[in-house]
Amino acid sequence: MCRQVTDHPDLPPSTPLASLGWLDFFEEQREPDEADFVPVRIATVHRSRLTGLSSETGSVELTLPVHTNTSDFAVGDWVLTHPRTRMLHRRLSRRTVLERRLEGSRALQPVAANVDRLFIVTSCNADFNLARLERYLALANQGGANPVILLTKADMAADGDAYRRQAATLQRGLEVVTVNPRLPAAAGTLAPWCGLGQTVALVGSSGVGKSTLVNTLAGPGQALPQETGGIREHDAKGRHTTTSRSLHAIAGGGWVIDTPGMRTLHVSDAGEGIATLFAEITELAPACRFRDCTHAHEPGCAVQAAVADGRLDPERLVRWRKILDENRDNTPAPAGRRGRRNVGG
Ligand code: ZN
Repeated sequence: MCRQVTDHPDLPPSTPLASLGWLDFFEEQREPDEADFVPVRIATVHRSRLTGLSSETGSVELTLPVHTNTSDFAVGDWVLTHPRTRMLHRRLSRRTVLERRLEGSRALQPVAANVDRLFIVTSCNADFNLARLERYLALANQGGANPVILLTKADMAADGDAYRRQAATLQRGLEVVTVNPRLPAAAGTLAPWCGLGQTVALVGSSGVGKSTLVNTLAGPGQALPQETGGIREHDAKGRHTTTSRSLHAIAGGGWVIDTPGMRTLHVSDAGEGIATLFAEITELAPACRFRDCTHAHEPGCAVQAAVADGRLDPERLVRWRKILDENRDNTPAPAGRRGRRNVGG
């Protein structure tokens, strides 16, 4: 499983910037006096170093100014670097970002940046959990990455399609696909989201086939990043697997970021992501008689009316309340209003 290879995806020199995911959104952030600086996409984030991919030279190790805090950077970030010294100049604003708050931490930690799609991977067995899927969906919505649910091990379930139908009810317009991570056909199934310059990130429990999927997407003979400086996790059989977040090249031209260490997800700072996730509840609220209706026991509640006449699943209302409470408890006050990062996409 553990291939001893280079620290970076193999990247031929003179790769067009666009195929690394560079967009006008980033180009427009360059000031006139920054024209000579070289854009680099962050591939790995370590305690005291950053590596990246440059369209001109392929893999690069950045020179960091003193006092650089590498935890301010995420895999997928775009930075400008000095053309000769490779000294980090500055990070460009993110188009999207998946971030979370570690328990007791004041700051949000970026997990992956400039992700177009979040692949939420779950298997069709005991791992399948609606409330957990909703937590990942809230994270994706909040960060501006469009979610897709990938169901694995559907062939081993008595009724694989029942899982697909259930997952599809979690959010309006949500795409749900069934894949077998071991089969090369999985790359074809996911190709619509993995084209040139597209970036996807993977989240989900260990044991559902995430690493296998990354290998399948990378294609045969691809060098995967060396697993160093990583996060220790137990795999399905209780073994330790050491992995690290990094940018992997997809055979079709896109990029995939695995996110080990995201197994337990505490929702925080995701009010808008939750509102999108539970749009059918959010949209009913203005029709309630009271403006501050909690949809629990107030008269004239449009949400309770929808439950009563079968338009709204009562279980869904219970889960909405729970995730909202959790979000409030985990989000330090005063949180202020956090803007959605979804720009286009
Ligand atoms: Zn109400």
